[in-house]
Amino acid sequence: MIKKTLKQISEMISVKNEITSFADTEITGVSIDSRKIEMGNLFIPFKGENSDGHKFVEDSLKKGAAAALWQSDVPNPPLHLPILIVEDCLVALQELAREYRKQLQVKVVGITGSNGKTTTKDMTYSLLSTTYKVQKTEGNYNNHIGLPLTVLGLDDDTEIAVLEMGMSGRGEIEFLTKLASPDAVVITNIGESHLLDLGSREGIAEAKLEILQGLKDGGLAVLHGDEPLLMERINKYKGNVNLQTFGRTDRNDFFPTEIVQLDQGNMFKINKSSESFELPVLGTHNILNALAAMIIAHYFDVPFEKMNEGLTSVKLTNMRMELVEGSHGEKIINDAYNASPTSMMAAIELVSNLKGYENIILVLGDMLELGPQEEQYHLQIGEGLNPEKINLLFTFGKLSKHMAEGARSSLGKERVFSFTDKNELIEVLKQHVNNHTLVLVKASRGMKLEEIVTALQQK
Ligand code: ATP
Ligand code: MG
Repeated sequence: MIKKTLKQISEMISVKNEITSFADTEITGVSIDSRKIEMGNLFIPFKGENSDGHKFVEDSLKKGAAAALWQSDVPNPPLHLPILIVEDCLVALQELAREYRKQLQVKVVGITGSNGKTTTKDMTYSLLSTTYKVQKTEGNYNNHIGLPLTVLGLDDDTEIAVLEMGMSGRGEIEFLTKLASPDAVVITNIGESHLLDLGSREGIAEAKLEILQGLKDGGLAVLHGDEPLLMERINKYKGNVNLQTFGRTDRNDFFPTEIVQLDQGNMFKINKSSESFELPVLGTHNILNALAAMIIAHYFDVPFEKMNEGLTSVKLTNMRMELVEGSHGEKIINDAYNASPTSMMAAIELVSNLKGYENIILVLGDMLELGPQEEQYHLQIGEGLNPEKINLLFTFGKLSKHMAEGARSSLGKERVFSFTDKNELIEVLKQHVNNHTLVLVKASRGMKLEEIVTALQQK
């Protein structure tokens, strides 16, 4: 993580006060949460609508922070303490990260896309770690605050940083990519999330492509090649980027030539190597995420034999296609982390093709932030269910009523249950599971469907 004296910091960001007596004070790492201060941190207080971090500045210094920033419009700065007065604390955090990144030798990989950013980030980290000292975004720290904090957490001997870049509107990815100045970037796919803010899938594609604006000249751009919205638009960047695509079809630079679904994951082969790869993660969409990660690893000269080692040890962040067991012996796929139509269909396709279960039950909740067509999206998911493969559908939430409505025409009325009360749903669901059942649990984060998983696990 960053290690600097206050004098050095004041050369990286614009500071309004004289710091003569504290010029040699050294900070190690940055924190924006006074409860999580570690020895030597630089504490950066934010002024929110309800709370003001400046109240905790003195406390953070008592707890071990070496220094703190202070926003100039907040009165009574404690000038006897090691504080640096800045115009705006958030801007200062971002500026500091931008300057620090310029000083580092590290190669940066930036990952964006509608679905699969965190998964691809974790896989890329795992592959590169077979050969390099790598650091990655923790959890989902992918926005205008999380990304600068991640950059400031990089050690100066880290060789490659894998950074997730998220967004909810135009201009956000441009900001993040210009800050991180990546050597390689990935766009995992274009889905429907954030339609509310961006209007159309074209709008989403444009917003994701902003990641190219910070890519170093001649840098590697890894795109989902089966997505026409990306491929139509990449032309205007050509000449300046090294383009590599991945996808299901043989139009791509990297594509799967064979896929065997295993109980707990997938085995697959690719066009570039004779190796069989084992991926301990369910869902063929995760093979696409793995392909994107493999292009990055290949670019950094990780041999294919080593990639196998990296893939088998992939550790994904929680609640993404996690397979757990319920108290009646049923298997549960907990994918309650998030949902959009693309990822919902990917998950349904996955469970539809799993062998060895007599009874496949979907427990699906609302997909949020989809904009004016939200009801239509829910309806279509329901209508598209295959009655040969799916036994029962349980929906939770208001929007999901439309999913239930669609499913009444595909599955038939008696196989669809729709709830707005989670406890009622759990009670009925429990009557339908046994040790030959597979349950898929999935919805947007805000629906908290993991509570259903926990309830199924309790006796
Ligand atoms: P967020 O925007 O919340 O950060 P993310 O892009 O980081 O999401 P992940 O956390 O990796 O995405 O995965 C979220 C969900 O998307 C998972 O539950 C998974 O089912 C689905 N998903 C992952 N990869 C893909 C993909 N390539 N195509 C479709 N769906 C996917
Ligand atoms: Mg994520």
